[in-house]
Amino acid sequence: MKIEQVSDSVHMVSGTNVNWALVSDGSGVTVIDAGYPADTAAVLDSVRRIGHTVGDIAAVLLTHAHLDHIGAIPTLVEQANVVVYTGELEVPHAKREFLQQITAPQMLRQLTTRRGTRWVMQTARAVIGHIDMRVPTAQAADPTALAALPGGFVAISTPGHTDGHTAYFMPSEGVLFSGDALVTGHPLLPGTGPQLLPKVFNHDQTRTQVGVQALAIEQAHVLVPGHGPAIHQHLPTLIAELPYLRE
Ligand SMILES: [Zn+2]
Repeated sequence: MKIEQVSDSVHMVSGTNVNWALVSDGSGVTVIDAGYPADTAAVLDSVRRIGHTVGDIAAVLLTHAHLDHIGAIPTLVEQANVVVYTGELEVPHAKREFLQQITAPQMLRQLTTRRGTRWVMQTARAVIGHIDMRVPTAQAADPTALAALPGGFVAISTPGHTDGHTAYFMPSEGVLFSGDALVTGHPLLPGTGPQLLPKVFNHDQTRTQVGVQALAIEQAHVLVPGHGPAIHQHLPTLIAELPYLRE
């Protein structure tokens, strides 16, 4: 686990090939995404390391309900009855009324490369015993509730990676939490820098490509992605320079 402070109130935490974020306002914490199931202890530890207890968590904001983003949620709900907000269309996905996630055969196909093999092994270890994890208490947040959380957020609907994928913007510090709508690195990508996840991860590739424009927020100048390092850059500039948008 690596914790990095990216703005006054925001810490980005890197776990098993995935990030989550902690936003603190002094008394409370908002947790954005929650790692793999195997990252659960690290998520709890990261909250303590920034000087808080699990009881201080006001809510988890979930960008989308893939296994590498929901891992610690069952424990947080069990220990502190933490509220879980996500996009309206992501609620049924979190409840596993349907599943829009990479399939086992698609994962096995990654074994043809050394990079892919390493990623499959790491992923298998990070999810083992928890393949059926779901978030029955997930609920849609209304704008007033999001604005009132520690940090204060605006939801940005970014369908594509999943139908209900939702990014979160924190106006007070210009921080954008993009989840998997825009990342800066992943074990299956050749290099770092702002980019989309490999197509195999995106439920709808065209919507993923088009949807990234919603993140070109004038006041945003820090990007905290679901995977890869944080980037300090004006978001509209960063997005205009994405290679596939310049073609
Ligand atoms: Zn995902």
